Amino acid sequence: MRVPFADLSRQHLALKKDLDAAIAGVVERSSFIQGPEVTAFEDEFAKYCHVSDAVGVSSGTEALFLALKALGIGPGDEVITVPNTFIATSEAVTAVGAQVRFVDVDSKTYTIDPEMLEAAINPKTRAVIPVHLYGQTANMDAVTDIARRHNLFVVEDAAQAHGARWTGRKAGSLGDCGCFSFYPGKNLGAFGDAGAVVTKDAELAARIRRLRNHGRDPGSKYEHSEEGFNGRMDSLQAAILSVKLRHLPDWSHKRRAVAKAYRELLSDCDGVVLPCVSADAEHVFHLYVVQVEKRDELQKALKVEGIATGVHYPIPLHLQPAYAHLGLGPGSFPVAEAQASRILSLPMFGDMTEAEVEYVAAKVMAFHRATVKV
Ligand SMILES: *Cc1c(COP(=O)(O)O)cnc(C)c1O
Repeated sequence: MRVPFADLSRQHLALKKDLDAAIAGVVERSSFIQGPEVTAFEDEFAKYCHVSDAVGVSSGTEALFLALKALGIGPGDEVITVPNTFIATSEAVTAVGAQVRFVDVDSKTYTIDPEMLEAAINPKTRAVIPVHLYGQTANMDAVTDIARRHNLFVVEDAAQAHGARWTGRKAGSLGDCGCFSFYPGKNLGAFGDAGAVVTKDAELAARIRRLRNHGRDPGSKYEHSEEGFNGRMDSLQAAILSVKLRHLPDWSHKRRAVAKAYRELLSDCDGVVLPCVSADAEHVFHLYVVQVEKRDELQKALKVEGIATGVHYPIPLHLQPAYAHLGLGPGSFPVAEAQASRILSLPMFGDMTEAEVEYVAAKVMAFHRATVKV
């Protein structure tokens, strides 16, 4: 059997009629930039995230960048985040001219360790970016409590956590703002690049709205109260996202069902550490990440059986050549480093069949049995 890591074509085939109609509508109106589709999607996504405002932007990276920019973070400031994330998180910090400061993560949930966060705060610290990695929110009670006591902004990197919850509250609504990516492979994906910032702060939303569109004043064409950027979401992407958003609750439910099946099938496999879902969290399983001692061997064995897997991420950011100037060698963040050599992302998507999940689990078990015997 061949099991893909994810299969977007299954999702799109099922929605083909609605997607075609949405695209045709945009072509008919031909308002490709800042069209009514963008405002419509922003309203729907704000409602979905339980916030007052959503601002559609050109990518998740742009969402993080514009959020930090709009909060006034820049040269001389420090922003704390984790080393086990996609590089976009820290790129945004550097792009606004601030300094990134990495801290280690919790050994069970892969998200920011609140104790490490608090210990890293200094007079220059202005913000923290908790990353809701793999689809589970960070410990947001602890993070927001620390942030309040130290007067820090909280910018959620929710690029992998559309619809995830912490004590019942939605990702993106927990900090000062939340940044989402609609990269095609994310839980809610466009047909290209797109992103959004969500917030309950109308003033912050207005500033991001202005910055994404060259600092242009609302309602005016060539009046600019400040310099901004071209960071807009295309009308075409917004129309597609509106169609797909209606199905997101169902897709999250299906992802959780796949995760539950993996858990049941792999529960007797001592050598495989399964994802740990915090009692306060509702996970949306953007990725299903396990830990094993012989990760590279398992990945190879699964490949031979036709199973595609991934590693998110193999090199913690502080050990990347891009951050060599920080002078943080191996041993700087022992938890993140130990995880990086052991993590493996198994196939995970809502349309996975029961047979596919069972096949993957069976092959993981077979590898485990073969390796513990010797
Ligand atoms: C995907 C991702 C981003 C960046 O989003 P893009 O839309 O690709 O720019 C940022 N942070 C995390 C954790 C991501 O997974």
